Amino acid sequence: MQEPALEFVLDALKRIRETRDRLPCASRASLGQLQITPSRSGLSKTERMAPLRERVCACMKCPHLASSRTQTVFGVGNLEAEIMFIGEAPGVDEDAQGEPFVGRAGQLLTKIIRAMGFLREDVYIANILKCRPDMPAGSFGNRAPTPQEMQTCRPYLLEQIRIIQPKVLVALGAVAVEGLLGTRGTMRELRGRWNSFNGTPLMITYHPAYLLRNQSPSEKRKVWEDMLQVLEKLEKPISDRQRSYFL
Ligand code: URA
Repeated sequence: MQEPALEFVLDALKRIRETRDRLPCASRASLGQLQITPSRSGLSKTERMAPLRERVCACMKCPHLASSRTQTVFGVGNLEAEIMFIGEAPGVDEDAQGEPFVGRAGQLLTKIIRAMGFLREDVYIANILKCRPDMPAGSFGNRAPTPQEMQTCRPYLLEQIRIIQPKVLVALGAVAVEGLLGTRGTMRELRGRWNSFNGTPLMITYHPAYLLRNQSPSEKRKVWEDMLQVLEKLEKPISDRQRSYFL
């Protein structure tokens, strides 16, 4: 039996198809999100994610971050996503808007996602830290999360991964790798390889902010090759255009 939300949208799409000359378009992933997927607890992903979001929203575990943040930045995207991208921590734009990866690095991430053949809404995007790391008064820029902050926030991310159950995780940058695997290393050694995170394949690649700082085509190509590996793992068709693409 179809769930009411999905049924409603399918009806609307049918009506549009019958009455308009342009075909409506809705991605399979966004339709999937309308379906209620019960877990062993009998609760849907939406029902499990909502209280977690509330807990994060009210979190005071790092009092220095709770008092400096504008708001928490929980995560965004499709709860049925096959891919989950994991970044470091919100920056100034994310802190202001309450959504991960909305600044310049985020725009590049969105471009990468589109080049892979997805919409931003098809995947799920989250960070190791849900609060912007505080900065000393009068200073600008961002600082990396401390190991203590990552350790404290980690259970929220683990719960997000457990609920979404993506087929592939993508760690963006060394901080994401440290937060997930507890491994410190240079990105030169870490990237482009498959790891496993609690049984889920994990691809490590450069953070988009690194590509903004280092505009060399060879570094951009490396990230794209990592994303081609992700598409292969998901058994997605890859066009010749995609194979020869440079970000
Ligand atoms: N960098 C990150 O790692 N996460 C964001 O949300 C934005 C920038």
